[in-house]
Amino acid sequence: MHKRVFKRNDNKELFLYGNNEHNEPSTKELEQTPTSEPHMRWNPARQEWVTYSASRVNRTAFPAKEYCPLCPSGNLNFPTEIPFKNFEVAVFPNRWPSFNTHSNASKVHTINTKPSNGYCEVVVYSSNHNETVADMSLDRIILLTKTWIDRYKNLMPKNDVEYVMPFENRGEECGVTLHHPHGQIYCYPFVPPVIEKEVISFQKENFILSMMEDLKEKYFVYQDDFIIAAVPPFARYAYEIWIMPKIQMAGPWQFNENQIKSFANCLQKVIQGYDSFLGKKCPYIMGLHAAPNFEDDKFHFHVEFYPPLRSGDKPKILAGSESMAGVFIMDLLPEDSAKILREHMNI
Ligand SMILES: [Zn+2]
Repeated sequence: MHKRVFKRNDNKELFLYGNNEHNEPSTKELEQTPTSEPHMRWNPARQEWVTYSASRVNRTAFPAKEYCPLCPSGNLNFPTEIPFKNFEVAVFPNRWPSFNTHSNASKVHTINTKPSNGYCEVVVYSSNHNETVADMSLDRIILLTKTWIDRYKNLMPKNDVEYVMPFENRGEECGVTLHHPHGQIYCYPFVPPVIEKEVISFQKENFILSMMEDLKEKYFVYQDDFIIAAVPPFARYAYEIWIMPKIQMAGPWQFNENQIKSFANCLQKVIQGYDSFLGKKCPYIMGLHAAPNFEDDKFHFHVEFYPPLRSGDKPKILAGSESMAGVFIMDLLPEDSAKILREHMNI
């Protein structure tokens, strides 16, 4: 894998990852934008941090509406985020980050506040505006996986970062405004509550390995020797899928070449399967849950997919019980949705 580091006009770095070396000269860049200085406030009722990034409203740098800011700018009359004619995978800092290391402390009396230190990156999967993971070559998804691994290796050691999470929101139902295939990486200055619970849980028992035989027989939607995609028996969404290595691994940084290939293939099978099931590009929220530390020998890496669906194509709303009490109410049994989805995963 080749990696080119391009220094932007704001002194921040744009990374171009590729199977081929990237040498082309840059074109006109976007104008510089003021950096946001987000802060966190402690929510004492929920016992969790909330981050506020008020400057996100001043989004002036983007090209005209008819141009996609994630397309290569080479053939457009307006500069975009990627000032080149072509690229394979591109990663750059979000111009309006929810987490950004700075020293400007915003204070609110009576509650605990802190600067929202950390980083937010955008990962553009392809220069092709219409290509999603479902349509890409396996080589490209392998490259995307290697890009995530490289970002983990670069971002986790930073002093102001406690947790790194790559994720993707797909579809307007999940709040996406830019349709060009892309994901994000959030680097948090603390271990987020959902991950903290998983860390504690895996320290007690590896519940993924404990249920593996059941997953292989009853809940799988796709599997090979190394990896399995399954609807967890305790799913909170009707068509929730987890992708899991069949052995304990802290994160994708422990994958060898064959395991990366197996993972990339499984990722594509799941997304193609969702699209086939729904008969259109299926909306989902997808996130990589890796250990907070490289050497963790308890945490079991997995990828979670939440499509916002109740059953069939009916939308799932996080309503009274889910939002107010944190108790999910389900209409469909996980073993039944696994059966439905499995039909779509091997085509
Ligand atoms: Zn585009």
